[in-house]
Amino acid sequence: MRLADFPQPLGAREDAAVLDACFLGPYGENDALLEKLVVEFLRDHVYWRRNFHPEDPPAIPTRAAQQPAYQAFEARMRRELHALSAALKKSVPFHSPRYIGHMASDLLLPGLAAQLLTLPYNPNNVSEDAAPVTVELEVRAGLQLARMIGYPDDPEREDCAFGHLTSGGTVANYQALRLALALKAFPVALRAVGVPDIDVPDDDWLAFNTGPAAGIALSERWRQWRDAQPPAQRRMWQAAVEAARIETLGIAGFFERHPTLKPPRVLAPTTAHYSWSKGVKLLGLGRAQLELLPERGMRLDADALQETLERCLRRHEPVLMAVGVLGTTEYGTVDPIDRVVAARDAMQSRGLGFSVHVDGAWGGYLATLFRNEDGSLRARDDVATDFARFPLPDVHAAFAALADTDSVTVDPHKLGYLPYGSGAFVCRDHRAMALLAEEADYVFDGPASTRYMARYRRLGQYIPEGSKSGAAAAAVYVTHRVLPLDHAHFGMLPRQTVSAAEAFHARAQRFAAAVADVVHAQVPFAPDSNIVCLALNPVGNTDVARANAFVRLLHEELRCDPQRPLQVKEFFGSMTTLRPDALGIAELHRIATELGLDPATFDGDADRLAILRHTLMNPWLIDRENGISYIDRYFEFLEQRVRELQRGASVPA
Ligand SMILES: *Cc1c(COP(=O)(O)O)cnc(C)c1O
Repeated sequence: MRLADFPQPLGAREDAAVLDACFLGPYGENDALLEKLVVEFLRDHVYWRRNFHPEDPPAIPTRAAQQPAYQAFEARMRRELHALSAALKKSVPFHSPRYIGHMASDLLLPGLAAQLLTLPYNPNNVSEDAAPVTVELEVRAGLQLARMIGYPDDPEREDCAFGHLTSGGTVANYQALRLALALKAFPVALRAVGVPDIDVPDDDWLAFNTGPAAGIALSERWRQWRDAQPPAQRRMWQAAVEAARIETLGIAGFFERHPTLKPPRVLAPTTAHYSWSKGVKLLGLGRAQLELLPERGMRLDADALQETLERCLRRHEPVLMAVGVLGTTEYGTVDPIDRVVAARDAMQSRGLGFSVHVDGAWGGYLATLFRNEDGSLRARDDVATDFARFPLPDVHAAFAALADTDSVTVDPHKLGYLPYGSGAFVCRDHRAMALLAEEADYVFDGPASTRYMARYRRLGQYIPEGSKSGAAAAAVYVTHRVLPLDHAHFGMLPRQTVSAAEAFHARAQRFAAAVADVVHAQVPFAPDSNIVCLALNPVGNTDVARANAFVRLLHEELRCDPQRPLQVKEFFGSMTTLRPDALGIAELHRIATELGLDPATFDGDADRLAILRHTLMNPWLIDRENGISYIDRYFEFLEQRVRELQRGASVPA
C-alpha cells in the first residue's frame, strides 16, 4: 500500500514535527537530547548537594577510590549491572513500531527526564514534610486531569475536583470504591447519632440512598455545625459520629446495627477489568456484591443496567456504584457513560442513590481529543475532521458526559506514555475526600486559595498508599505542562493512535480479501478507539476449537519467548477471546457463521472464540520519513504465516 492511501489528519505535518521531539525514538534517534538532559540535571543535583553547606568538607575521602575494598565493590557492582543490562535485552520492545501487543509504548521525554532528574532527590509524596515540592505537583497534576475530564479545576471553587496519583488503575479503582462507600454510609451514621439542627432522612434506607451530591452536602453541613461548637462539645460529637461510621464499625458491625440495610452492590459491565473483583474483595464487600451486567455490541447494555436498577429498587438492594468503562482493556470499546449518568439521576429521584465511576484507565487520555484549549468541549464534527470514522456519536456522547460523573480513573502509564507506576484517581467534588481522611479534619487557617493546597499537602491522609514516589508525580505534572491536555497539544498523541487504528482497520479488510482463498478473516466489530481485533478461521474448518488452535498457533509467533532472542520475532501482538457475555449470543453466532464456523461447536472448552488483539499506540506505525508502513508489513507477515500454516509447513520452533 502507498502512504498516500492513509488519511492525512489536519495539521499532521505540525503534529509530526512535535512528535519528533517527544520520544527517545524507535532507533534511539533522540539519544543526544536525552543524554544532554540527564547529564545537565545530574550535575545540577550534585551542585545542589555541594551548595547546601559548602563549608562542610567532603566526608568521603578523595583517595577512597584507590582503596582495594572500594575497587572490589565497584567491580562487583559493575558486574551485576552488566548482568542486569544484558538480561534486560530480553525486555519487551515497547518502543518499536513492530510492537502492537499490550497497552504500552515509548515514553514521553519530558516525563522520563523529569522522573530521572527527580529520582536522586527521592521525594516521598506521603506528605509535604517528605516532599515539599512534588506533593504540590501531584495535586496540580490531579487538577490538570480534572480539567481534561471536564470537572471544576479551580481550587478557589468550594466544589473543585481533586485527583491524586496511585501505583496504577487497580488502586485508583479501589480508591473509587472506598470513597463511594464512605459517602453512601455517612448519612446513616449521622442519622444514628442524631445530631441536633441537621436534618437527616427519615429512615436508614433513605439515608443510605441520598446519592453522592446530597451525601457531600450533609457531610459539609455536619462539619460546619461541628466546628461552630465549643471545643468540648465539638470533640464529643466528633467522637460519636466517628463511632457510628462504617469505617469504624466495619462492614459486619455496620449492617448488624442497621438490620434493614444490606451490603451494597457494584454494577459493572462484564468486560470490566479484574481490578473490580480485587477491589470488592479488598473492601470486604465480597465478590458476590459485584454484579457483572451484559453488553450489547461490546458495550454496557444500558437497558440491562436499567432493569437491574429497577430490580434493586424493588427488592431494596442498595447500589454502591455503577461503573462505566472508557476504553475496555480487551477491545478498547467505550461504554455509554451518558446513559449511566442519566440512569443515576433518574433513579436518584425515585429513591435509589449511587455513584457513577468511569474506569478510564485505558481511554482516559482520549478525552484530550474532545477538549478545546479553553477547556470547553469540542463538537463531534470538529473532532471528526481528523478521522475517517472516529468518534461515533455514541462515543462522543460518552466523553461529553464525563463531566457529570462522580469519579474517574486514568492511567498516565498507559495512554499518558509515562513510566510505570502511575495511575490516577480523580473525583468531581473534593469535599467528599474529607470522609477518607485518616485524622479528624480540623479547620485550616488562611484564605480559601491556600486552604485547598494546604489540606492536600497532607496527601497520606487520603490515599490508599503510604510512602510513594514523588518522582512519578513530577513526571506526570511536567508532561502535562509541556503538552497541555487539550486537542491541540497532548491530543496529537491520541490523534495518531486513533488514526493508526483506522488505517489498521482498513488494511485488515484488504488483508481479509487477499487471504480469502486460505482463511476467513474478519474485524469482528469496528473499533471504538485504538484497539483492533482480528478473527481468523482456516477455509474448510467449521469447528470452533480448531479455529482457536489456529489463532493460538499464529499468536505463538507474536509473543515474547524468554528462551529465544528478541530479534527472531518479526512482530508482537496479543490475543483475547470473544465471549457470549460480552457480545451477546446472537452476535457471537453471527460472527462465527461469517467465519464459516458452526455455532453448534461452541461447547466444552471452546465456549469462546480466540482472536488476535492489536494495540496501535506507537507513533511510528506509519514511518513517513522512510515511506514504511509497519501496519502494511505486519499484514504481509501475517499473510505469509497464515499461508505457511495452511500449507502445513513446519512452524519454526
Ligand atoms: C489497565 C486497566 C486497569 C488496571 O490498571 P493498572 O494500571 O494495570 O493497575 C483497570 N481498568 C482498565 C479498563 C484498564 O485498562
